Amino acid sequence: MHTYDVVVVGARLAGAATAHLLGRFGLRVLLVDRSRYGSDTLSTHALLRGGVLQLLRWGLLDPVIAAGTPPVRRSTFRYADTVVPVAVKSSHGVDALYAPRRTVLDPILVDAAAAAGVAVRFGATVTDVERDRRGTVTGVVGRTADGLGFRAPTRFVVGADGVRSTIAERVGAPFERVGRSVAALTYGHWTGLATDGYEWNFRPDAASGVIPTNDGLACVYASASRGRIGRGGMDPLNRIVAESSPDLAARLAAATPPRGLRTFTGRPGYIRKPWGSGWALVGDAGYFKDPLTSHGMTDALRDAELLARALVAVIVDGADEADALAGYQRTRDTLSSAFFDLTDVIAGHRWTEREIPDLLRRVNAATAEEVETLAALPPLPLRPATGELTRSPPFGRRCVRGH
Ligand SMILES: Cc1cc2nc3c(=O)[nH]c(=O)nc-3n(C[C@H](O)[C@H](O)[C@H](O)COP(=O)(O)OP(=O)(O)OC[C@H]3O[C@@H](n4cnc5c(N)ncnc54)[C@H](O)[C@@H]3O)c2cc1C
Repeated sequence: MHTYDVVVVGARLAGAATAHLLGRFGLRVLLVDRSRYGSDTLSTHALLRGGVLQLLRWGLLDPVIAAGTPPVRRSTFRYADTVVPVAVKSSHGVDALYAPRRTVLDPILVDAAAAAGVAVRFGATVTDVERDRRGTVTGVVGRTADGLGFRAPTRFVVGADGVRSTIAERVGAPFERVGRSVAALTYGHWTGLATDGYEWNFRPDAASGVIPTNDGLACVYASASRGRIGRGGMDPLNRIVAESSPDLAARLAAATPPRGLRTFTGRPGYIRKPWGSGWALVGDAGYFKDPLTSHGMTDALRDAELLARALVAVIVDGADEADALAGYQRTRDTLSSAFFDLTDVIAGHRWTEREIPDLLRRVNAATAEEVETLAALPPLPLRPATGELTRSPPFGRRCVRGH
């Protein structure tokens, strides 16, 4: 007998969203994360249309707006000597984009999961999976921040534990694609920066951008090859912004800079097989690409629903596990493959100024296809989330039983 239907490891975009949807189907779900509730993470935070659409479809866009996240109604692309402003058109109920800080969006998803009846535990690190004699994954084991061991038996383990996924490693999820490019990115949040939406600037080996967000802040980033970014910080950022958009450089000079910047030193993209007997992967754990195309969060929200649908089909409707999870993989890979290749080229800074407009047009086409696929999904028959919000304390017992 399993204590849980699903244990989800990792309580951010991919994991909290998956747990929320499963909870809204009435499944017994445990959501664990080794970090703290509401903590920040190494990520800028631009949502594209597919991500906003998902939040809208699940009833979670209102709390994002209520948190003071400003609407983004225009994207401005700059490349070579061209400036291309693109108004955000209204479609499928989405008339603006949003870029909530991760300290805003991740807790909204976790709170929604808790309100849907999911047992949520922070400060709990999963160290391994358990298996039965046939090799099927049957649970997780781990330890709490205060050193207590725990185990959680379950029908399915979902690894939503990011790029260094313990679950992917412990189940031996094979890599199906590995990218060639490694770029680095440094970013911070400016106060008082004049901007009217997303800004994306592309010059050879010098990309930069602006992402307006909560509290009147604007996230400014610079991306280039590892050697150019080095350890990151204000010097490379200012240099790359000046090269890619003198206009943005002038506005930055008039705004208040952050006290420090955060730097991502790069990692090649990959696509892993996202399922096996008793386990599945979602989000960066199974599919990662360089942040320069700003799509990981949107894809995490997309795949959370695709995976939740597959797990519900198995657990509630009795569908064949391999068929359902292979279907999840098929849709994920169909929607991801062009995007993965384009990101690998763009983030590799392996393009000329003549080529970048066409690459960006193809990114746009892949994004539009993703949106149409999500919009065409039948509405989820979700139960209302009536539960009280409970933020569970870390595990206090050796074995977690029930909710
Ligand atoms: C510098 C940078 C900028 C980016 N900018 C953007 C952007 O603008 N727009 C966009 O769409 N995407 C962006 N991305 C990508 C985006 O951040 C990721 O795609 C997204 O965070 C993936 O979410 P996730 O839930 O899969 O993983 P994560 O956000 O990495 O969450 C994984 C969670 O798992 C937990 N965990 C890990 N191991 C364990 C364990 N063993 N036990 C328990 N818990 C564990 C961690 O504590 C963490 O909370 C950016 C990425 C980077 C690096």
